[in-house]
Amino acid sequence: MTAITDMSVYNVSYYCNECGGWHATATRVQFANSELDGQSIVVAYLGRDLPSSIKVIQEPDKLHCPSINRPTSQPDPNKIFLILAT
Ligand SMILES: [Zn+2]
Repeated sequence: MTAITDMSVYNVSYYCNECGGWHATATRVQFANSELDGQSIVVAYLGRDLPSSIKVIQEPDKLHCPSINRPTSQPDPNKIFLILAT
């Protein structure tokens, strides 16, 4: 038996209000739980404070839409998701 002590790394992605697509951010977060793939940050951080690295995503113009090449933001935590990094 191998002890499961490794942390799972997730890429933070968001639904883009500008183009209606999904984009990855440069932000990565770690959880002991590997079952949060595809979950929103609302689920992942239920009852906890969001880390500052995710809070910044919700601030105006901190994101960049590659499809229309314009700054954007995603203030809605229900539209920010965790994707398990491989
Ligand atoms: Zn976009």
